[in-house]
Amino acid sequence: MKNKIAVVTGGAGFLGSHLCDKLILEGMKVICLDNLLTGRMENIQHLIPNENFQFIKLDVTNYLHLPGNINYVLHFASPASPIDYLKYPIQTLKVGSLGTHKALGLAKEKGATFLLASTSEVYGDPLIHPQSEDYWGNVNPVGPRGVYDEAKRFAEALTMAYHRYHGLDTRIVRIFNTYGTRMRLDDGRALPAFISQALNGEDLTVFGDGTQTRSFCYVSDLIDGIFKLLLSNETMPVNIGNPHEITIEDFAKEVIHLTNSKSKIIHQDLPIDDPKVRQPDITRAKEILGWEPKIGREEGLKLTLEYFKKIPK
Ligand code: UDP
Repeated sequence: MKNKIAVVTGGAGFLGSHLCDKLILEGMKVICLDNLLTGRMENIQHLIPNENFQFIKLDVTNYLHLPGNINYVLHFASPASPIDYLKYPIQTLKVGSLGTHKALGLAKEKGATFLLASTSEVYGDPLIHPQSEDYWGNVNPVGPRGVYDEAKRFAEALTMAYHRYHGLDTRIVRIFNTYGTRMRLDDGRALPAFISQALNGEDLTVFGDGTQTRSFCYVSDLIDGIFKLLLSNETMPVNIGNPHEITIEDFAKEVIHLTNSKSKIIHQDLPIDDPKVRQPDITRAKEILGWEPKIGREEGLKLTLEYFKKIPK
């Protein structure tokens, strides 16, 4: 890995910044691209003095040219929380479509390996449970979440077209719910929402009746899985996530317990097309990558809580 050069789009985001850390730790040089729409300089401030790290503020949906040799292009740019992609629907569609096209073009020009950050949202509101990679999904193209789901589905199709037509070396990771340090407290996702509400003594807002399920993966496990996928030669999509499933109601209770909060749970309307269940089938990741998550929710939540307590409000 020494001296290999990787480009990370969305490198100042939650996952992108952890990925930059990992690649640098593995001896690579990293060029981080981000337009800072939802990414933040705080996430990469510690990397700025590192001579193996370079940050360029740019929008990856525009023409992309970088001089010199590049070995890997990892495309992580996109708003990724439901609140963010509802706030930036056109940008979300553009970065998943035009941005993926530009990032693939860069990889092709440089003869680099390309890795797409895809998502469990390609399965939509799934009719198969747990979700394995051969499930085609149940997505509403014209619903509010469609901007993200369809952009990522298009991005997967484009990645496979570059692989099949241009012979590009490609990877597709389908990322399931992930949490950990560097999430924005205000990104609207269940975990930061619940933690900030519990810490502020506010009621926890569970949407719907709380029986919908998710399966939460700690960020370091996810990044390990993605790195293993990058080094593998698997070109078909691979789910990376933690299969330990929980209802959102129980998840809210766990956060109240962990924070010793006196907050109560209140129920609000379920957002349109909110998936009722979600759990990754990680058989493929286990078999092909020898990967499975190591950090349980209790440990992961404690690490995340410590981080949220320390950051300035
Ligand atoms: N959710 C909730 N309260 C919140 C935020 C989210 O009950 O304040 C629910 C949301 O409706 C969904 C689940 O928690 O069923 C996970 O939502 P999140 O936004 O974290 O991500 P998603 O898995 O939907 O992409």
